[in-house]
Amino acid sequence: MSEYGWTVVGAGPAGIAAVGKLLDRGVPSGSIAWIDPEFAAGDFGTKWRAVHSNTSVKLFINYLTDAQSFRFAHAPHFALNDLAPTDTCLLGDVADPLVWITGQLREQVSALRTTATGLSLHGGRWTVETEMGGITSKNVILAVGSVPKNLDYPWLNEIPLEAALNPEKLAALPLEGATVAVFGASHSSMIALPNLLAGPAAKVINFYRGPLRYAVDMGDWTLFDDTGLKGEAARWARENIDGVLPARLQRCLVDSREFPELLQSCDYAVYTVGFSPRPVPAAPQWGKLEYNPANGIIAPGLFGVGIAFPEYRIDPMGFGEHRVGLQKFMDRLNKVLPLWLKYGS
Ligand SMILES: Cc1cc2nc3c(=O)[nH]c(=O)nc-3n(C[C@H](O)[C@H](O)[C@H](O)COP(=O)(O)OP(=O)(O)OC[C@H]3O[C@@H](n4cnc5c(N)ncnc54)[C@H](O)[C@@H]3O)c2cc1C
Repeated sequence: MSEYGWTVVGAGPAGIAAVGKLLDRGVPSGSIAWIDPEFAAGDFGTKWRAVHSNTSVKLFINYLTDAQSFRFAHAPHFALNDLAPTDTCLLGDVADPLVWITGQLREQVSALRTTATGLSLHGGRWTVETEMGGITSKNVILAVGSVPKNLDYPWLNEIPLEAALNPEKLAALPLEGATVAVFGASHSSMIALPNLLAGPAAKVINFYRGPLRYAVDMGDWTLFDDTGLKGEAARWARENIDGVLPARLQRCLVDSREFPELLQSCDYAVYTVGFSPRPVPAAPQWGKLEYNPANGIIAPGLFGVGIAFPEYRIDPMGFGEHRVGLQKFMDRLNKVLPLWLKYGS
């Protein structure tokens, strides 16, 4: 069985950052294993390319240049390089450099194109079972990502979030004359709604639970940095939700008396109600594994990073949020890696 010092499970933005930062900290490249079934920059690179970002180009560039081992100074020219630092962009503009960096890192570490299926700790080493067999590792970082949540309305045809956020995929669906329910009032909702209204649906009903929340740049911190609307989604929401509702859009509070009847009138549903962590590789020895939101520790030598294991931070006015985004994953690793390097199995 191959033996490693560190194994990173997942090659989305969080896994890429974890591998880069381990190399930057002097962990020998030959002692790092990296596991992912695709190595295509995770959901970021495979599902969300057509989505408008809520963070600026500058923050993406900060992430891309934060690790020496990314070799980004030697990268070819990307469309992202031509964009104004304060603008937002399409996530696809960031996915291309991420895929390039993935290639650079794969040259440096042992990249295993497979899925991790099990985790156990014996004799001071983790065994990571994969579809290609097992490896052992002193330490494991899980960066497995999250999946969109949905609700239980089985009579509605679900439009996957991936399609609702991608005008090309949406155009392929037979929505002519249909009534489409959109649950939620998140960044994803404010992208799905205009996408649907640009198509042939007869009516779109947005089911919501409360007022919208907007991010506010306060200079050295941002109010509602992780849960507030930003960029194009915020602009659209101010104009069309908190402004004047477009003709084919109706809104309905889920606690209102109209809710059951309006719901019955719908043919399709889009659920933009958040994300839940992807199941981690099975660890029967431990039962359900929980992470510590303050430092990402799951067990001795087992750590979590990325959208599945976000940092929890309280802003200067006392409001707490889970921090999700590329720059935030990098900030998190810069803070916790010195600790993780000392908290081995
Ligand atoms: C609508 C929307 C807008 C967004 N806007 C922004 C933005 O403006 N700015 C920003 O920074 N980010 C944005 N994001 C992206 C956000 O940061 C994502 O949450 C990010 O892609 C999460 O990265 P991750 O590496 O944690 O997970 P993922 O990208 O999901 O990657 C996880 C990887 O782990 C692999 N994996 C899972 N389980 C296993 C296993 N058992 N074995 C091996 N591999 C495994 C998966 O195949 C995948 O490749 C947005 C996302 C959405 C949906």
